[in-house]
Amino acid sequence: MRKKIVAGNWKMNKNYNEACNLISSIVDGLRNSVISPEQLVILAPPFPFLEPAVARTEEIEYISVSAQNCHSEEKGAFTGEVSASMIRSVGATHVIIGHSERRNIFNESDEFLAKKVLAAQNAGLIPIFCCGEMLPEREKGIHFQVVEEQLNKGLFHLTQQEIKKIIIAYEPVWAIGTGVTATSAQAQEMHKFIRSLLIKKYKNETAENISILYGGSCNAKNAKELFANADVDGGLIGGASLTAQDFVTIVNSF
Ligand code: PEP
Repeated sequence: MRKKIVAGNWKMNKNYNEACNLISSIVDGLRNSVISPEQLVILAPPFPFLEPAVARTEEIEYISVSAQNCHSEEKGAFTGEVSASMIRSVGATHVIIGHSERRNIFNESDEFLAKKVLAAQNAGLIPIFCCGEMLPEREKGIHFQVVEEQLNKGLFHLTQQEIKKIIIAYEPVWAIGTGVTATSAQAQEMHKFIRSLLIKKYKNETAENISILYGGSCNAKNAKELFANADVDGGLIGGASLTAQDFVTIVNSF
């Protein structure tokens, strides 16, 4: 059975004390929640806060810690970069790869992302692989094509065994940080399409066990409706993950 996941992408927000307070508030807030065995909560703070996030959550089975990015190389002359094995060595277990901000602001290509996915898995991290179309692409009606190409080039080089250790996040770029959420029907339609691609490329059973998260202005008010869709297995949350109460409400939206 695939996991129901809520992951908080903090992006470049919070200082050390604020980050520690947010982690503690989320942990406290979740103490009164009923978390089922198939649920997973992932916190993705900036690099300097990975270690305190791991320290504050390692006793809690249903919380994992993720980085927001990694480099494709293991080590070397890449000033300012962080490798997947470094992330794993501080106890984090996941890494976001291919977020639209990495693709669009930092010009990361599908080919580069494909290498990062392998580097992450080789280091023992589970990649949270992001895909999603820009507004003009949706307006032109080529959103399925765009997402298919991102998956073909960035993810579908993985073998049958490797793809099992992946989380996919569908994040329409026009919905990220805009307050405009995809409708429940739009989210389900794309998630079903992504699962159909997984079925075609990998086996049916494998495809059925891969979690596909929705991201893009998902919040405490709309999470329940989005998560009620058959192929929406949770959310990758940006803005609303920075407030403990909202994030806890989203976790409780299954
Ligand atoms: C994101 O950046 O992954 C995201 C979904 O952001 P927001 O929830 O703020 O739209």
